[in-house]
Amino acid sequence: MKTLLTTLPEDAAEIIRRGGVVAFPTETVYGLGADIFNEGAIEKIFEAKGRPADNPLIVHIADIAQIRLLTDDLTFSADALFRAFAPGPITVVVPRSSKVPSIATAGLETIGIRMPRLAIAREFLSACGVPVAAPSANISGRPSPTTWQAVLEDLNGRIDCVLQGNESEIGLESTVVDCTSDPPVVLRAGSISVEQLRAVIPGVRQLDSNDVERPRSPGLKHRHYSPLANVVIGLRGSVNENGAYIGLRRPEHEFRHMRICEDLNEYARSLYEFFRECDRLGIPSIHCEPVEETGLGLALMDRIRRAAEPAS
Ligand code: AMP
Ligand code: MG
Repeated sequence: MKTLLTTLPEDAAEIIRRGGVVAFPTETVYGLGADIFNEGAIEKIFEAKGRPADNPLIVHIADIAQIRLLTDDLTFSADALFRAFAPGPITVVVPRSSKVPSIATAGLETIGIRMPRLAIAREFLSACGVPVAAPSANISGRPSPTTWQAVLEDLNGRIDCVLQGNESEIGLESTVVDCTSDPPVVLRAGSISVEQLRAVIPGVRQLDSNDVERPRSPGLKHRHYSPLANVVIGLRGSVNENGAYIGLRRPEHEFRHMRICEDLNEYARSLYEFFRECDRLGIPSIHCEPVEETGLGLALMDRIRRAAEPAS
């Protein structure tokens, strides 16, 4: 299939309305969207990405009014978090309406809902006229794309259209909060920090290793965000000078490819694109400087750790 490139949200939305799959920019990463109510279109997302069928999709809305199409039970905590942080990089997990095809939620009785804040994403979603289910627009397991070029690198010829926007401003996926339990639980760290969530709902918990009784977020068990290169946390072990380095401080060694970031925001924004650059250069290993695990640092370290896990 030929992948159409466009900068016009209306043209991209037309393809969604006809049952196609479209990659589109958001403030977190680029998503790969389809009409939530069109099962055939949703299947195409899983096919194009090679995504395991047990990994649920997040549904994206343009407008608060669309929530009632997706759930009959927007819980108190979901409502409070949406009021505080939407539109923005937050996903609330709530009970799913029976109208939502179960393929979109990987058979779960819950659904993750997000309202992006990036203007072009909002224009696109409004023009679609339906909620749009969308995981990140990468081949499953690869780093999420933060540019339209990175989307093409993975999915050219496998999807109907790419809506071209700027580089994603945040560069890490949304904060996912399970609002079906009391207190709510953070399933995936993101740029909206646990500290910010607790300012709204003081009891918010973090998922920890004791939470094995119920795999609340099936996607979490899959390998994620990984470049082909071997990711190493810090400079421990043998430092390969043919390797690469990304971090806040300049290291003592020289590396073949380096990125020194001004601050945590730049580190988060650049991480995935840096991983991809290293793969293009055929670099064997990437050293990532560890950061303190508070605020955005928690989300950043979560992604670095997952990228560093050996393939399962
Ligand atoms: P991505 O593929 O990067 O967009 O990530 C989507 C992720 O959101 C999934 O892998 C899950 O971790 C999480 N998620 C989406 N829907 C749900 C849900 N209903 N319950 C729990 N987690 C969810
Ligand atoms: Mg993803």
